Amino acid sequence: MKQINQIYINGEFVTPHGNEVMDLINPVTEQVAAQVRLADETDTRQAIAAAKAAYVTFSRTSKTQRIQYLQQLHDAVLARADELEAVMSAEYGGSLAMVQGTVARSSGAFLQAIKLLNEYDFVRQIGRAKVVMEPLGVVGLITPWNANYGFICNKMATALAAGSTVVIKPSELSAGQTQLLTECLHAAGLPAGIFNIVTGRGDVVGAEMTRHPDIAKISFTGSTLVGKTIARDAVDTLKRVTLELGGKSPNILLPDADLAKAIPLALAVGTMNNGQACIAGTRLLVPQERLEEVKTHLLQAVANVKVGDPTQADIQIGPLVTAKQYARVQNYIRLGIEEGAQLLCGGEGRPEGVDRGYFVKPTVFVNVTPDMTIAREEIFGPVLSVLTYRTVEEAVRMANDTVYGLQAYVSGENRQQAREVAAQIVAGRVFVNGMYDAPDAPFGGFKQSGLGREFGTYGLEAYLEPKTLIDDE
Ligand code: NAD
Repeated sequence: MKQINQIYINGEFVTPHGNEVMDLINPVTEQVAAQVRLADETDTRQAIAAAKAAYVTFSRTSKTQRIQYLQQLHDAVLARADELEAVMSAEYGGSLAMVQGTVARSSGAFLQAIKLLNEYDFVRQIGRAKVVMEPLGVVGLITPWNANYGFICNKMATALAAGSTVVIKPSELSAGQTQLLTECLHAAGLPAGIFNIVTGRGDVVGAEMTRHPDIAKISFTGSTLVGKTIARDAVDTLKRVTLELGGKSPNILLPDADLAKAIPLALAVGTMNNGQACIAGTRLLVPQERLEEVKTHLLQAVANVKVGDPTQADIQIGPLVTAKQYARVQNYIRLGIEEGAQLLCGGEGRPEGVDRGYFVKPTVFVNVTPDMTIAREEIFGPVLSVLTYRTVEEAVRMANDTVYGLQAYVSGENRQQAREVAAQIVAGRVFVNGMYDAPDAPFGGFKQSGLGREFGTYGLEAYLEPKTLIDDE
């Protein structure tokens, strides 16, 4: 069995002091795929010390030098893209198409950071003051399992572009992909200590980072629950925090929506990454008078979805990541039925003919009302809740009736009306008639979906602090 028993501190693979060992279970076979030795607080403190020592030199490197480092990291990650995709897919169940997209965007993150560095002016004149955008210091990056690899690359590329050194706490459930990624990053040949990778439990390694006085900022992606803990733990040292948290994204089909386009899109955004995506459009809001039509289209679209081993090319939906997530999603499906929603398709248990693995049937509920649990809470599985509205004003009210505000979707043939509706939705990003890449545009949440933004200039400035210099001239 594969043993993952090293972490990465100060440019070296080292054995953790921590002696807790965790089994990693393959979500398709339910067999133990690897054993991971987890880091502890001592390892974390050593990683922070290494990042702090490296910061002295790294924070003063020129733009040109940082661009070169970022290019080296990009090339090193890309060199093993195929391996990374395979490990990622087997580890958390993402379909091949999904993990290919993640790997492409992840290596692309280093190129984005290079572009930012080329365009960004770190020094500005404001009246008689010279304002210098300075790096914050050592930053801690904490990532979730559902796109662990992508978040590491994006956060790390931006933080290094800003001149910070980093300590990365990946999801412990992503130890296999993290190990491979670390090998790639090590092969890039950067000076020791600039990045350190400590796989361990959140309440051990993550908490130590969040409370440690030598870390200036935490950039966290994960659940709203843990995000709030991090915000609380960060207060004593007044750490900066960027929090990318959960969502319950609405998808409004306007009365004139072309269902032939809008429904396959609705299913794709509702079940992306097997439904394990913070940005999944899991609340489908449809005009009352078109419900029957919507149901017919949804049944057709679901019939075309293939669930199975995600390492196979024709599979759209793989298993959920763990037995715990599987039980959680099954519980939500039961709750939906108990609270009076009607199953259009899917439901409890595994898909027909499947007797093991954390596979969930693509599930669509209709007759969902806004007060039901399945309309309010993040399920994190391939479960779509269909709600109806009578007027567009009501649709907007329903869309905004949530503690979350990460992403939203609007479909309608009258683009002007769709844009007007998009403008009224309280969310960090709203897509009209599709889903598009915009790697330079800010990403992040309103309300309890987060704090701060990532990507582009907004993302870079989240790692910078302005310093004003005024002299007697
Ligand atoms: P999680 O919050 O359980 O864990 C995320 C990370 O935080 C892990 O590395 C975990 O070990 C660590 N952690 C746990 N407790 C901690 C603590 N007390 N202090 C510091 N770190 C701690 O989330 P998850 O289950 O890994 O991921 C799924 C969640 O992430 C979903 O809620 C999803 O919506 C959210 N998410 C958000 C975005 C976004 O960009 N907004 C993107 C992806 C996922």
